[in-house]
Amino acid sequence: MIIELTKRQEQIIEIVKSEGPITGEHIAERLSLTRATLRPDLAILTMSGFLDARPRVGYFYTGKDSNQLIKEQVNKKIVKDYKAQPIVISESSSVYDGICTLFLEDVGTLFVVNNMGHLAGVVSRKDLLRAALGKQNLTDIPISIIMTRMPNIITCTAEESLLEAAKKLIDYQIDSLPVVRAVQNGNRTVFEVIGRVTKTTITKGFVEFGNEVTI
Ligand code: ADP
Repeated sequence: MIIELTKRQEQIIEIVKSEGPITGEHIAERLSLTRATLRPDLAILTMSGFLDARPRVGYFYTGKDSNQLIKEQVNKKIVKDYKAQPIVISESSSVYDGICTLFLEDVGTLFVVNNMGHLAGVVSRKDLLRAALGKQNLTDIPISIIMTRMPNIITCTAEESLLEAAKKLIDYQIDSLPVVRAVQNGNRTVFEVIGRVTKTTITKGFVEFGNEVTI
């Protein structure tokens, strides 16, 4: 979390910038305050990353400004902590099944898995709409025919930053990414679907971040 700095905290940063490494005792002397009075300020400044403290050496300036600290905080947001449940459908399902699942689960994208449970494709609402425009009976069209299939699926991992995932949504102009875990199947790498990142996920992360930062 990044906190709005008080005048005194700004003064401490200036002292540490020019005189660091400097002990808490000496900073207190320079400000004609007691060490105890300064303790909360020093705690805030080290927690938020402006200062660093080394035992027996003292405080020193990290050289990071607010922008850098905000950037670090943004990059700390990881897919794992925000991902939603993936909604998957079997490759052998019909387009009709897909449309029903989309409504029942209240999502915009379905992840299609093969009989081993591995990611085979993605079906979006427009894929389903397009299929529904035809004259064919929707129960007769396998979803595997209309899906975007592997290896053309854009994915992310649980360890990736939310920012990287958001960039993929923008770069590839898609609404959702399957969060995957790679597993070896013989000499082939296949993917298990363990989550879902959507524009809603990113928006939630953004709102949470906005509530944390008070600079
Ligand atoms: P829609 O256009 O239905 O609002 P998208 O923008 O997500 O939804 O999908 C656009 C196209 O991209 C669709 O054909 C869909 O199959 C495909 N698509 C969606 N998500 C992915 C993904 N993660 N990787 C590759 N292709 C995708």
